[in-house]
Amino acid sequence: MQHPHQQPNKIEQLKSRLLTQVAWYCMALHACLIYAFWYIEVPLLGAFNVLSVATWWFGIKLLERNQQSLALRVFSLEVTIHSVLVCAVIGTDYGFQFYLWTASCLLLLDTQLKLKQAIIWCTAIIVIFAYTYIGFNLPLQPIDYQKMAPYLHFANVIICGIPMIYTIGLIREITVNQQHELEVLAAHDSLTHLFNRRYAQGLIQQAYKSCINHQHPICVVMADIDHFKQVNDVYGHEQGDEVIERVALCLSQHINSADIAVRWGGEEFLLVFPNCSQSQAQKHLEIIRQAIEAMTFAQGSLQVTMSFGLALWQAQSDFEEVLKQADIALYKSKHKGRNTISVAPLVH
Ligand code: GH3
Ligand code: MG
Ligand code: MG
Repeated sequence: MQHPHQQPNKIEQLKSRLLTQVAWYCMALHACLIYAFWYIEVPLLGAFNVLSVATWWFGIKLLERNQQSLALRVFSLEVTIHSVLVCAVIGTDYGFQFYLWTASCLLLLDTQLKLKQAIIWCTAIIVIFAYTYIGFNLPLQPIDYQKMAPYLHFANVIICGIPMIYTIGLIREITVNQQHELEVLAAHDSLTHLFNRRYAQGLIQQAYKSCINHQHPICVVMADIDHFKQVNDVYGHEQGDEVIERVALCLSQHINSADIAVRWGGEEFLLVFPNCSQSQAQKHLEIIRQAIEAMTFAQGSLQVTMSFGLALWQAQSDFEEVLKQADIALYKSKHKGRNTISVAPLVH
């Protein structure tokens, strides 16, 4: 599982990857527009597109250097100046002003810009958009509307639409990623990555209901590292943390996908084995007990053991009751000298 602190980078990478794809798309489009404007005999706009291609290329280089915020501002500025220029030269009949909408959306993706600032800039771009209808009703160089309009409208809708889909898709990906990460954070313990106590309760109840409905047995185990205080005292808290982490890893490696492993407290773990009889659970725990006993820490100078308390969760008892029985069984194991498994007697 990925460490939560790595997630912001992952999201930035995703954003950067999608933005780079959009930027390549825009650069290619502007290259095509050099030819298109030359073909419709508006050389000024053709020449400006050479500058645009260079600007998008520069933006891609900025993205490669992780200067995402600057790249977004450059892209937004390019689109704004370019749209206004095209509207000034050939008028607003061809829909080039609609690019100002995308320029405005691009700025909102710049998270280094405060929301209030971004909204002010976006509003300014939208006002420019609105103004094009007033300011540019007399084009500097009118072109043959009848001939060109359908093609330019077609191209503009496609060209504008695709980055819009991309941008909204990007926002969706980021939201889904963050939601998933928040769920993982809320459900797991940060040291061991096992489920935390609060989140596990729901899973345990679900597993119990399903087992009872199917008349399957279900077992609950309390497990506690032996003499752990000494580990901290002799080897230090950091070494203690490593022991907890590796013991947790060992537990998760030795359980089945339907089983539930929870960090219940400091060095105490809860295991739930759905569809597992008491004797199967006992055999299973014996394997885990031996695996933990075989582990070494601190360059081989430290070994730990674990005590287990096993209880069969019977249909007539609730979770609190079975937990109490598993706890009593665990203390029996501690009392017997630790590094052992005790089973709670069945309640009749
Ligand atoms: P027993 O065999 O009876 O279980 O003895 P013990 O020493 O393991 O039990 P005790 O409850 O006396 O001590 C548990 C210690 O675990 C005390 C506490 O400081 C330590 N501990 C709890 N959580 C953590 C943790 O996250 N990291 C580390 N390093 N130590 C922890
Ligand atoms: Mg202990
Ligand atoms: Mg304890």
